[in-house]
Amino acid sequence: MAEIYHDDAADLGVLEDQTVALVGYGNQGRSQALNLRDSGVNVIIGSIQDHAAAAAKEDGFSVSNIAEACEQANIVMLLIPDEVMPEVFKTDVAPNLVPGNLVIFASGYNIAFNLITPADYVDVALVAPRMIGVGVRENFVSGNGFPSFVGIHHDATGNAKARMLAIAKGIGSTRAGCIEMSMHDEATLDLFTEQAFGPAFGRVLMTAIDLLVEAGYPPEAVLLELYLSGEFAYSFEKMREVGMMKQMDFHSRTSQYGTVTRSAQFVTLAEPIKEKMSAILDDIRSGNFADEWSIQQPKAAALFEKIREARDKMPLAKWDDATRTAFKIGDAG
Ligand code: NDP
Repeated sequence: MAEIYHDDAADLGVLEDQTVALVGYGNQGRSQALNLRDSGVNVIIGSIQDHAAAAAKEDGFSVSNIAEACEQANIVMLLIPDEVMPEVFKTDVAPNLVPGNLVIFASGYNIAFNLITPADYVDVALVAPRMIGVGVRENFVSGNGFPSFVGIHHDATGNAKARMLAIAKGIGSTRAGCIEMSMHDEATLDLFTEQAFGPAFGRVLMTAIDLLVEAGYPPEAVLLELYLSGEFAYSFEKMREVGMMKQMDFHSRTSQYGTVTRSAQFVTLAEPIKEKMSAILDDIRSGNFADEWSIQQPKAAALFEKIREARDKMPLAKWDDATRTAFKIGDAG
């Protein structure tokens, strides 16, 4: 069993004499900065001069360029996109790090695949929320917390762990719990979820949509049935609350009987899915994916843009918009 830390394992007092520079004020940066400040931590922001810097100023933070913020800080938290981080680290962060500093990553990606190698004299740690940025703030404000993956990659000072856990507490994560792991495990688990579990699940959903629309059901009804009504998402939430098996009790007896008696027909799909997933995991762990996405830029970014354009032209995008508008769902509400 991996080590799991809660509030009682962390002491915010170790941050009393520390200045924490958050580099980047986007999804994670803004939420983590507000949470740390509310926890009594001395936070400054390092940012390029963009709308994010303006937002940070409006929120009352002291904002400077990235190099200056790192120079003033004892702890630097890197909260900019992973693919731009190596360049920013090389030019603005690394030259301003001194012995005693701690660098915190919210994703193990750049360390795991040797795209960033901090000097031996700095502490390096992971505090990777298992929560989107807006949820980091909302859960802090509501008092709920959210889990994170944490880990020490390098401890030059001997107090890397105490500071890492204090930061995890300051952002509100030890309320829920933080599980210890290596940068490599965090990065590869995350990439696997995005590249294997997500697409496999998405393919099952798209297959059902195709089949039902081809069979003559109105696309709006199909999308409502499969995901837009929120019923399926609700079942997922119940899985989280009471467990995967027990949540079945919330469904009708007809539904439960049909599910358990028909599920065996899909068992033969497990092996081919596992084979594909295993190939994707190998590709991730070998560093092939990191090479494609990080080293071979801007080729990968150009491909990504093309795929995004094609995605928005799919019939599904139109059906989805029309149904959400008709039923006032989500941002169409
Ligand atoms: P964002 O995409 O929100 O970007 C953060 C900020 O970085 C933005 O203000 C952005 O400015 C700025 N930025 C973009 N390019 C550059 C550059 N070249 N130089 C300096 N600043 C730049 O990042 P996220 O918050 O989504 O991700 C930050 C880290 O957190 C990553 O390591 C990510 O893996 C990790 N993480 C993210 C999660 C999430 O839910 N988003 C969840 C868990 C971890 P602009 O807006 O102008 O582009």
